[in-house]
Amino acid sequence: MHIDTVLQKDLRGKTMIVFDLDGTLTESKSNIEPDMSSALGLLLAKKQVSVIGGGSYAQFEQQLLAHLSCAVDLLKNLFLFPTSGSRLYVYENGWRETYAHTLSLEEKQNIFDAFERVFKEMSYEHPHKVYGDIFEDRGTQIAFSPLGQNVILEIGSERGVALKQEWNKRHDSTRQAIVRSLQQTLPEFEVRAGGLTTIDVTRKGIDKAYGIRQIETLLKIPKSKMLFAGDALYEGGNDYPVFKEGVDAVSVKRPSDTKQLIEALLAY
Ligand SMILES: [Mg+2]
Repeated sequence: MHIDTVLQKDLRGKTMIVFDLDGTLTESKSNIEPDMSSALGLLLAKKQVSVIGGGSYAQFEQQLLAHLSCAVDLLKNLFLFPTSGSRLYVYENGWRETYAHTLSLEEKQNIFDAFERVFKEMSYEHPHKVYGDIFEDRGTQIAFSPLGQNVILEIGSERGVALKQEWNKRHDSTRQAIVRSLQQTLPEFEVRAGGLTTIDVTRKGIDKAYGIRQIETLLKIPKSKMLFAGDALYEGGNDYPVFKEGVDAVSVKRPSDTKQLIEALLAY
């Protein structure tokens, strides 16, 4: 659903609001802005909130938890699903890992080998300048970032996001082609595009829809009471499985859209 359509709807029945992280609550790999943090704090007083992002738990801590300004007793309403739902953290006097679907060494090697094969087949050339490693082993997920994992760390959020947007504009079709080839080569894994530049690989069946089903079974919330917001709801995007799962999903283009949505939810 387009954001404007959603804002016209009665959202009172939605008790669990599920957000993607990068491109939705924050800019790519950037810290949450103070106004978004306050809005989220107000939302946590009224609703339960889940965040399902492609990044690792450490990334969630850095981008989100370190800048959340809400009262500690509201954190019980917040559920964190790093690495596309392959892990769950709940707050019980501190953040506790509830489950983790870790990849074996062999699975990881298969994934790395498949990337190399696809790069060769497509004559893909890495950019001249990269920032840190292009692959990150997130335990439950392998992430490929063509410009390197440390773009934002090395050149800051503003320049880093601009660089990623520029890459996305020029090379997104290549990224989507890599996703398609990899998925054919790796039928036992899920291959998705996330954020502006990244490709995430997790074990088969482990994607954001899996996260949604965990909310349903572990937290006992029916899908009809969930509302999801994400910036990659297009086919092949890492939010697309949520849409396919039948959850009402709002397509946002940037964090300011998400903030509008939160304000609408707070207005009741
Ligand atoms: Mg995203």
